[in-house]
Amino acid sequence: MKAAVVCANEDVRYLDYEEPKAEPGMVKVKVKASGICGSDIPRVLHNGVHFYPIVLGHEFSGDVVETGEGVTKVKVGDRVSGAPLLPCMKCDDCQNGNFSLCKKYSFIGSRQQGSNADYVVIPEQNAVVFDKSVSYEQGAMFEPSTVALHGVFQNDYKGGGYVAVLGGGTIGMFTMQWAKIFGAKKVVVFDISKERLNLAKKLGADAAINTSVENYMEKAMDITGGKGYSYVFETAGQVPTMQMAFELAANKAHVCFIGTPHADLTFTPAMWENMNRKEFKLTGSWMSYSAPFPGREWELTAHYFATGQLKFDPGSIYKKMPMNQAQEAFQMFQKPGLVKGKVLLVNED
Ligand SMILES: [Zn+2]
Ligand SMILES: [Zn+2]
Repeated sequence: MKAAVVCANEDVRYLDYEEPKAEPGMVKVKVKASGICGSDIPRVLHNGVHFYPIVLGHEFSGDVVETGEGVTKVKVGDRVSGAPLLPCMKCDDCQNGNFSLCKKYSFIGSRQQGSNADYVVIPEQNAVVFDKSVSYEQGAMFEPSTVALHGVFQNDYKGGGYVAVLGGGTIGMFTMQWAKIFGAKKVVVFDISKERLNLAKKLGADAAINTSVENYMEKAMDITGGKGYSYVFETAGQVPTMQMAFELAANKAHVCFIGTPHADLTFTPAMWENMNRKEFKLTGSWMSYSAPFPGREWELTAHYFATGQLKFDPGSIYKKMPMNQAQEAFQMFQKPGLVKGKVLLVNED
């Protein structure tokens, strides 16, 4: 088969590569679409891989073409999305169903062969079947949806309250939609970009607030009658939105940090005291897995993509490129700000 092989730093070549076999319990997937994740950029451009040569790719969809002995959950011809985590299944966290917290995991496309190839082999439980009415492109976008939904579950979400989603990126858009699907009085998305705020409205947000406007906090609190938000989701990982989360929370609120910080974070004593005075609960969220593996995050994404209630905006795909142009695709990330949205590598028939 052919694969986009990372041979050295900044050196991706489309080469003949050993075709993987469907061993017992495994399924062989003919890859149709494979997304380039933010985490792949340092792997290719800054010597960030575990070893050379390696085939990356962990956000993918395709068709099952072969099943190994004992496989019962999926069959040849199924359209599947791949869950990339391979937890050890033995440690305390795995035994408790907290697969995202496993420390002895492997991972498709970073520790073993990924989906930037004609074929990839994965355990049957990592293959999530989705309806043929859902495109392969959308099928490669399961992960952000599952990450958002994991955060919603982590935050002990119940419908009926006011919900604030900080950050209108892909994760934020999915978080907003999940909050609506499970019932919310109102869901409000906060961002500084007009395009993202418009998209949030288009995808169903009840309000979209531009936080670069001076009186935005007043507007935000007015929506809730001055009481604040019962559920706050931080999805941007930016210092101002992380601070904002503490301010927007209502008394006894649930606050969840899905975004991860990239800079030092400071709170004034008054800002931090919000947590004491409001007695809100603060939690984090990591990846997107639950029991039974890979979890309801994946199963519900397949379900709500098929019903159309969970929407994916095709505008968030920046470019689709054939797999043999993987080198060119990664090189686009050398220019800061050039790539706006998802880059998908596709295998045409
Ligand atoms: Zn990723
Ligand atoms: Zn484990």
